[in-house]
Amino acid sequence: MQRALIVVDMSNDFIADDGVLTCGSAGQATVQPILQAVQAAYDHGDFIVFACDAHAIDDPEFALWTTHCVVGTYGAKLVADLQMFYENHKGDRVRYLPKTKYDAFFETDLAKWLHEQGIREVIVCGVCTSICCYATASGAYYRGYEVYIDPDLMADLTPEAHQFAIQHMQDVLKVNLL
Ligand code: ZN
Repeated sequence: MQRALIVVDMSNDFIADDGVLTCGSAGQATVQPILQAVQAAYDHGDFIVFACDAHAIDDPEFALWTTHCVVGTYGAKLVADLQMFYENHKGDRVRYLPKTKYDAFFETDLAKWLHEQGIREVIVCGVCTSICCYATASGAYYRGYEVYIDPDLMADLTPEAHQFAIQHMQDVLKVNLL
């Protein structure tokens, strides 16, 4: 059974030291494990989606969060190692998915695309555990996907938020731990 690995918001603004909403060292610690997971998924014949915030400069979300991940900026770009993987492998099984809300399924073609590939199982990883990962896992759960997570492939702005969200996803979204 093929799966899709949904890599959420591994962009400079959320990961890099100078990112405006950075998860800092916790986020940076996920980069190599996620790169390995991405490579393993690719080698296994699975699908990979880099779902990233891609906001207009006047996005209403900026009433809540500082301006981040504006289309075309350094902050909106995938971190270097994942950007390199994407550029070297993009195609039928590896895609970039711009999103404007937390949930990668919201007003995107993600569900349609997964359906076309016959995929019923997704792995969600990336940042932030309690925000966009949680929302994307919710989006998958609502649509009937079997959802898998690995806590080591996620990070948040605080360890407390990360821990809560990992447990909460298991409790209310029936996610499976890898
Ligand atoms: Zn955003």
